[in-house]
Amino acid sequence: MSERMILVLDEGTTSTRAMLYTVDGRRVATAQRELTQYYPRPGWVEHDAAEIWDRTLACAREIVLQAGGADRIAAIGITNQRETVVAWDRRTGEPLARAIVWQDRRTADQCETLRSDGHEALIQARTGLVTDPYFSATKMRWLIDHVPEVTAAGDALALGTIESWLVWKLTGGLHITDASNASRTQLMTLDEKGWDADLCALFGVPRATLPEIVDNAGDFGTTLPDLLGAAIPIHGLAGDQQAATIGQACLTPGTVKATLGTGAFILAPTGARRPVSSHRLLGTVLCQIAGVRHYALEGSIFVAGSLIQWLRDRLGLIATAADTEAIARSVPDNGGVVMLPALSGLGAPYWQPAVTGSIHGLTHGTGRAHIVRAALESIAHQVHDLASTFAADGAPWHMLRIDGGMSANDWIAQDMADMLRLTVERPADVETTARGVAMLAAVGAGFFPTLASAAIGESGRTRFEPILPDAARERRLAGWQSVLAQVLPAG
Ligand code: ADP
Repeated sequence: MSERMILVLDEGTTSTRAMLYTVDGRRVATAQRELTQYYPRPGWVEHDAAEIWDRTLACAREIVLQAGGADRIAAIGITNQRETVVAWDRRTGEPLARAIVWQDRRTADQCETLRSDGHEALIQARTGLVTDPYFSATKMRWLIDHVPEVTAAGDALALGTIESWLVWKLTGGLHITDASNASRTQLMTLDEKGWDADLCALFGVPRATLPEIVDNAGDFGTTLPDLLGAAIPIHGLAGDQQAATIGQACLTPGTVKATLGTGAFILAPTGARRPVSSHRLLGTVLCQIAGVRHYALEGSIFVAGSLIQWLRDRLGLIATAADTEAIARSVPDNGGVVMLPALSGLGAPYWQPAVTGSIHGLTHGTGRAHIVRAALESIAHQVHDLASTFAADGAPWHMLRIDGGMSANDWIAQDMADMLRLTVERPADVETTARGVAMLAAVGAGFFPTLASAAIGESGRTRFEPILPDAARERRLAGWQSVLAQVLPAG
């Protein structure tokens, strides 16, 4: 029989994709559809779950055709934008409301009340997460409180994150979520298997509405035969950042990945040890296989690639994002300019939502190239500050693997190596998220016994080694620190 393949469904924030992988991790085909973004009010972000399903199915059908039919597909792996919540009716399998997307801030007041009522310490101790509208639980409660159709659904109400929704539709009614996605809801204790009854009561989310929590690799049911031409087993599930960490083969403590996209998400595996942060980093489930959990410490930078978009679209300083590389190289240094990229506050490790961005050190000698260079430098500075925070939490980095749209910029990759004094590696294929869930599905289907053994077929990596002299590095770090000292609230 000819080679069998893995179908990956990669459900992102702005698009949904289906990809075909060989069992040993080579990507051979991709189909993609954009997703409509709904912004009904300031701070609100919604998706149409029916559209997500329709477009995912359309992409999947396209890829099955390219593969030569459903019998060529040995396994499906699903990876998804995390935290986003869908409410649907178990009787009809139809959504009851628009999905509330991870970026949505509508539950900020609810979070403030939880904080002022003194619940934050318990939430953090059990879930590893800070009290923020980012996570799913307050979004679920909001739907129950504010959408009449959701309230009226009663026992027929099903709640879930995007992978739950897709599994329900693909299998015709299986209601499951994987441990990595469940760890972002704020309803699961990091080191216990089921939903936490106290947290469900605190957030007001009935246990009966929630899916069953399962492994990240295993047997998760089969697709309805009519959908793709035959029943195909689902063998892998994972949140996108966890999948990217696995796809970068960052499986052991000391290895770290940074996905540099609109924002930047950095995950460092901590092994079987449940991470405890004293610096407001997030503890999260990296994956659960055969019931055994592995964990990661996570730090999120809100503004990374979006700073480059801002230089282009608001300031008109550059024509394309890729131009920044040549412009940064056109000057020997930043000319004393330091940019604080706090366009939507500062995330980890500062957690300062009210701080705004600023540009420091302007003189008559300052030109466009200095400002662009200072913008690029701010990325490595933020990552460097996170590295210090991870080290303070007992998870020092020994290297950094990058991916995401911004990782294409060699100047940024080199600057990160210089500021971190670490080797920075970039894989030739930066689709690490899809690759990670393909690895999980390959393990779940029994092609490999472990994730480490599934990490084959890698496409080679470009390495960036630190070369900047110490004195220049110290000057850079001092300049950044002095700006932070000026803008961050004392203490
Ligand atoms: P997301 O998955 O968050 O949509 P991507 O991983 O596709 O983001 O990355 C897109 C981001 O990367 C954009 O914000 C863009 O400004 C930035 N970007 C893309 N190419 C470059 C480049 N060569 N240099 C700097 N930034 C870049």
